[in-house]
Amino acid sequence: MSVSVSPYGLHRVVAPAGVLPQQADRLDPSPPAQRGEVMIDVERLNLDAASFHQIREEQEGDPDRMRARVVSIVRERGKMHNPVTGSGGMLIGTVREAPERSELKAGDRLATLVSLTLTPLVIEDVSAWDGSSEQVPIRGHAILFPSGAFARVPKDLPDRLALAVLDVAGAPAQVKRLAGGRDTTIVVGAAGKSGLLAMVAARGRSKRVTGVVHHDDDVRALGELGFDDVVVADARDAVETLTAARALGGDERGAADLVVNCVNVPGTEAASILLAREGGTVLFFSMATSFTAAALIAEGVGKDVTLLIGSGYVPGHADLALGMMRQHATLRALFERRYAS
Ligand code: NAP
Repeated sequence: MSVSVSPYGLHRVVAPAGVLPQQADRLDPSPPAQRGEVMIDVERLNLDAASFHQIREEQEGDPDRMRARVVSIVRERGKMHNPVTGSGGMLIGTVREAPERSELKAGDRLATLVSLTLTPLVIEDVSAWDGSSEQVPIRGHAILFPSGAFARVPKDLPDRLALAVLDVAGAPAQVKRLAGGRDTTIVVGAAGKSGLLAMVAARGRSKRVTGVVHHDDDVRALGELGFDDVVVADARDAVETLTAARALGGDERGAADLVVNCVNVPGTEAASILLAREGGTVLFFSMATSFTAAALIAEGVGKDVTLLIGSGYVPGHADLALGMMRQHATLRALFERRYAS
């Protein structure tokens, strides 16, 4: 490997030449860590929800096949970059070595805040994963580039809880920016990780915060958090979703001036756009979004809405999301029940 270390990890790109690691087909994850890199002994991956859902469907929920699929992707690509969804996830682990990084030392525990789609990774053992959750306990190592953001693993929260929250930390941070001064914010996929955080982040900023969920149980979960304006609909069915939104005061012109899409399946662009009122904003946090579909649907229905891509990075997003766990006991209890038990 070249000794010239790029802050963005260009020196780890195997193919094709000249692209950033995120765009690359294949990365070189081999030790040792170069100057400014961090070599991490990985304890647990958090697969992106869209990626986990796709692998589970593709492998018909068979844990052996799911393990084999994850291992084969990582072996082929040198990173956990799902070729179907294009998404990754993040990880938690312990620093093995961090040459010329004065702020880090061997033994420090951290969570990466950059995607697994650009993180060089080797999996040695994935046998402890039963395929039931996107959290994948592994033995292996990963490399964080000099530019790669990370958060120290908090000592006051369980690892699994911190991992679940940090994976989607961009969602509440984006919503915090966007929800202020709105009459109504509606979160589609409101009962998932990012959806719950988005709902809580919008509270007190928008006059009204409402949600679309997939199952009746989800209505109860959101009720525990004090959200009563929640409807059940399949967001892949735009007409059904818009009909359900009438219960939230919506009509054929939409139901909200901010729509936040937090689902983990493809095909929900139309519902999100139809739920937005003229002049409103749709934030597509979901990695299952087709931005072609979103743009063409908005054009096709003649709706002047601002379509935003939900970047996972906002300065301070990790502290914000972890802080929400500390401040909201009911939210934390719900997350612990679902993701940390
Ligand atoms: P999650 O916890 O799995 O939540 C997704 C929610 O969407 C679940 O409640 C799910 O319900 C619901 N849902 C699925 N199909 C639906 C449908 N047809 N209609 C209505 N709701 C439906 O996922 P997450 O971790 O919050 O992630 C959400 C999305 O954000 C994913 O697409 C993920 O890829 C993306 N993401 C983006 C970033 C970024 O940087 N932009 C970072 C992390 C994640 P059930 O599964 O119970 O049916």
